[in-house]
Amino acid sequence: MAENNKQNQNVLEVAIDAPLSRLFDYLPPATAGAVLPGCRVQVPFGRRSVTGMVMGAASHSELPREKLRRVQAVLDDVPLLFDADLKLIRFVADYYHHPIGEVVAAALPAPLRKGRPLYPVLQQITVTDDGERCDASTIGRRAPKQAELLQLLQDAGSIPATELDEQMPGWRRVLPGLAGKGFATIRELQETDASPDEPCERVAGPSLNDEQRSAVDSIRAGEGFCVSLLDGVTGSGKTEVYLRVIERVLEAGRQVLLLVPEIGLTPQLVVRLEQRLGITPALLHSALADNARLDAWRRARNGSAPLIVGTRSALFVPLKNPGLIIVDEEHDASLKQQEGLRYSARDLAVVRGKHEDIPIVLGSATPSLESLQRCRDGAYSHLRLPHRAGSATPPLLRLVDISASNLNDGLSQTVIDAMREELQSGGQVLLFLNRRGYAPTLICTACGQIAECERCDARMTVHAGSAQLRCHHCGAIRPLDSQCVTCGGACLPLGHGTERLEDAIAAQFPGYELARIDSDSTRLKGTMTRALARATEGRTQILVGTQMLSKGHHFPKLSMVAVVNADQGLFSTDFRGGERLAQSLVQVAGRAGRERRQGQVIVQTAFPKHPFWNELFSGGYERVAEAALAERQKTAWPPFSKIALLRAAAHKRDDTHRFLQDARRHAERAGVAGVRILGPVSAPMERLAGRYRGQLLMQSVNRRELHELLRPLRATLEGMPSARKVRWSIDVDPIELF
Ligand code: ADP
Ligand code: ZN
Repeated sequence: MAENNKQNQNVLEVAIDAPLSRLFDYLPPATAGAVLPGCRVQVPFGRRSVTGMVMGAASHSELPREKLRRVQAVLDDVPLLFDADLKLIRFVADYYHHPIGEVVAAALPAPLRKGRPLYPVLQQITVTDDGERCDASTIGRRAPKQAELLQLLQDAGSIPATELDEQMPGWRRVLPGLAGKGFATIRELQETDASPDEPCERVAGPSLNDEQRSAVDSIRAGEGFCVSLLDGVTGSGKTEVYLRVIERVLEAGRQVLLLVPEIGLTPQLVVRLEQRLGITPALLHSALADNARLDAWRRARNGSAPLIVGTRSALFVPLKNPGLIIVDEEHDASLKQQEGLRYSARDLAVVRGKHEDIPIVLGSATPSLESLQRCRDGAYSHLRLPHRAGSATPPLLRLVDISASNLNDGLSQTVIDAMREELQSGGQVLLFLNRRGYAPTLICTACGQIAECERCDARMTVHAGSAQLRCHHCGAIRPLDSQCVTCGGACLPLGHGTERLEDAIAAQFPGYELARIDSDSTRLKGTMTRALARATEGRTQILVGTQMLSKGHHFPKLSMVAVVNADQGLFSTDFRGGERLAQSLVQVAGRAGRERRQGQVIVQTAFPKHPFWNELFSGGYERVAEAALAERQKTAWPPFSKIALLRAAAHKRDDTHRFLQDARRHAERAGVAGVRILGPVSAPMERLAGRYRGQLLMQSVNRRELHELLRPLRATLEGMPSARKVRWSIDVDPIELF
């Protein structure tokens, strides 16, 4: 048995952060004992030395033994990652057809990725009693540097190495001399986690209504892995349900991971969790500094953080004692990473739940069609909260036809009148326009030329405040000319963005406090928090904003929402267009009338006869979802089929298409029955940041077949000559088709 173990340890399988799918074999270090999976190692890689992650051990390698290189150092005494984490990493690499070393990199906080210790070692340099008594000037003549260091130590008694690095940069060379004379010592301390916060005062929540109680009971009743879709209209008390379920899991001494969309991680949510649960959640999101992130990660790993709240990448955090994962706003696009490793944190939460045998709760007012279909299949339990909690009533919905009427700065008379009435009676109004900037187009009134981006097939957006033209696709910026570069004619901004709407509203409704909230107005640190606080308190009377305002926020005084232009989504080329539009409208409408006052929602459209409106207004999101599912079933789009996209981009259009053609040939040759291959086609906005984009769509009713095709295809693409001229990526379960 022991002999066997030793045999199995002969070769270590190491994941390395490189764009290659495979693991790399290394010999274990000659001296150390067994190296466990989940530990990091320093290994030679080409001519470099890199940090890798031991994923497993094998008894032999395909490489001849004399070709195998040896691990240079083992960086962890105990595994950084648990077996369940390694299993998840392997699953992700396999499912998304992504290099496993890059998956490991995505799962680790930056300092650990770079090979830093989990807990930094602190060095403390201390003067000894002899050193204290020694007159520094007596050694000064022969060893002036030693005298200088001794003097520093005598003055301070003891100094951390990090401080000495600043005070006397060369001290490390000098110290051995002083230590040799018995005048100084160096001590190494391992930093440890701060002890967990004392629980604070807790505020009791409302007593649950029947629907909430039965949702809580149903989630609690499940033992081990099960998935519940908590499908509740905005304000129905989903968060209350989470809180009760979390409470119980924490009482049982297990950890909870709560995943939220990027804009859903608000100070409001954190305060509510603190007040109700009496603990401070550990936060994991991309805006944190490296050390804060590492700290939260460590506390999740060693079990001292009972509740972890984070955005999508937090899905990978190791948990000592996992008990529950909740994914809030499970339909939200930000749960899917759209670059590099294109994973869905929602889908992986379910996979992780299965691996760890714990319950999963997916919550939304507008669930994804994927999750709704899983409920129909009986794989998830469908828990509904169809009514608003407490005393709030659902908002009144109205559609305004703007095809014929004259608009006043983008607003119909109906909206203006309704606003005036609301404001005069002390209400708060939100104008939703999903387009930032002043105007989406700048046109020359003489020659008709439109300002376009030089590197994209896209128009430049006018930003009046900064007097710039900006491309919202590649970020290009140029000064805003009032005269046409071609003919010298006068240029005119066409259409409305939030910036222009803000100006127009300020002119029409003087004397009211107005705030614009979009990614331009909230770029400065702290401005978003301040603006939201004023809006929550009800001091801001008119809010103008994009998508940013449509989620997660609770404005108690908000009584009216106007959707300025809903039509962009009606004619989307993407099969998800209808689902997305309904989600964003229902989410923003859900902001209105969350407390006592009944809210109203007015939607402006130039296409009031479009069947979408009838579905939405007669049956709400549920009806839209039903119709969309029926449509998808007929056309065999997801969730009734599985798709993957091979995207490519290159500076020359030919390179893009040659690569995709080659890929198509290989895919066809693989001959997996049941997989349809569509393309190559150019993206509708073909040129982005100077690169021509194209893609190949692979579709199959059966998930297994699709992966049977993708697995060898990925390996082939890595070695294909035409791949060297393009940037390419595989996107499994893409949420955007282009
Ligand atoms: P959601 O997460 O579904 O949007 P919340 O849990 O935030 O809903 O609840 C919306 C509002 O209703 C909150 O102010 C909350 O305190 C209140 N609320 C929730 N459940 C109840 C209940 N059973 N009785 C009274 N008020 C409730
Ligand atoms: Zn551009």
